[in-house]
Amino acid sequence: MVTVKTIRSREVLDSRSNPTIEVEITLSDLSVGTAIVPSGASTGRHEAVELRDGDTSRYFGKGVLTAVRNVEDILSPQLIGRSPFEQTEIDVTLKSLDGSADKSRLGANSLLGVSLAICRAAAASCGKELYAYLGDGKTLTIPVPMFNILNGGKHAEQSTDIQEFMVVPVGFPRFKEALRAGAEIYQQLKKVLGANSYSTNVGDEGGFAPNLPTNANALELLVQAIEQAGYQPGKDVFLALDVAASELYRDGRYVLDREGVSYSYGQMVDFYTSLVDEFPIISIEDGMAEDDWEGWVVLMEKLGKRIQLVGDDLLTTNPDRIQHAINLSAANALLVKPNQIGTLTETLDAMSLAREANWGLIMSHRSGESEDTTIADLAVATSTGQIKAGAPARSDRVAKYNRLLRIEEQLGSTSTYAGIGVYDYLKGR
Ligand code: PGA
Ligand code: ZN
Repeated sequence: MVTVKTIRSREVLDSRSNPTIEVEITLSDLSVGTAIVPSGASTGRHEAVELRDGDTSRYFGKGVLTAVRNVEDILSPQLIGRSPFEQTEIDVTLKSLDGSADKSRLGANSLLGVSLAICRAAAASCGKELYAYLGDGKTLTIPVPMFNILNGGKHAEQSTDIQEFMVVPVGFPRFKEALRAGAEIYQQLKKVLGANSYSTNVGDEGGFAPNLPTNANALELLVQAIEQAGYQPGKDVFLALDVAASELYRDGRYVLDREGVSYSYGQMVDFYTSLVDEFPIISIEDGMAEDDWEGWVVLMEKLGKRIQLVGDDLLTTNPDRIQHAINLSAANALLVKPNQIGTLTETLDAMSLAREANWGLIMSHRSGESEDTTIADLAVATSTGQIKAGAPARSDRVAKYNRLLRIEEQLGSTSTYAGIGVYDYLKGR
């Protein structure tokens, strides 16, 4: 019987030069699985807790040596000798060893590192790719990439109020062509920005971060870049936003500093409706703040049949919050971030719940990333249909897209590219 032999952990760096945790698990058959946990900047209030040392003499308090020790001294002794193939049981153990509601005792970063490394080691032991191990026996779909090519908000503070402006290449037969379109549009946007004397510096997720007067300006520039790259907006390529509205919410109002306005949720709904009328927008994430349930319900009533309304900070990959949103009809899609909840099993549970409600699903990176590509495999294994991993630039982002290229090549004709059909679920609403 194959069992867990050793569990090691260390502090490594993420793409923002902050420390994060890496876990390395070796099995009795010498198979190895490693995982590096990502980290957010516009973190939702209801996310599981990422444990940081708070020792200001190192990394400005952001060290993760306590989380590393929790893995090696507390989690490891309970897992050594166990079967790596019992993911659910292992995740239950991890959760109960932590024992808190928000994973604050041992840290969601420690737990997730172990949970994902176990899964990777188990796949290696079977001689399988991670997506094949997790997606065993199912027809697999390569997700539509949502390329965040213009960054604002907390990821580029001199840029727009809205955090992310994405291009979504749906009208292509394969992922390979969709990736090419994304890269060409990205390069073209650089030229468009330069021609208009805007900065082509980039934000945390590799997208450009120009100092624009309005949010609509960003959408105009994206449409220009799509057209000039030779693609048709609203047919080949759609637009998507992540407003990250919790970051704009002050005293019950949404403050758009750049535009010098402050909106009620009703006015925000009108603002979005005018953008959706004018531009080929297919998806808006976190259009309302994380606890503004009333705002979300009104937004869904107005736009929920036309476009995807994605809950990130609202839902935090948490089954309780997802169930509440289903009951209220407050969203129609789930952003899936494993580190918001802390174990693989709970992530899969959250996805099942959303799927049962006929919601859309987007597998997501965090703004602080690494070379770890687990989310690419997870997206394929569970056929989410969509993935958000930043711009098609900077290796922390591109690693995920390149991984999808390799998976698509390995699967050949046995997989399909999700394409425009990924939004068909909106028709039945
Ligand atoms: P974060 O941003 O990783 O900084 O939270 C990503 C997002 O809001 O989707
Ligand atoms: Zn978000």
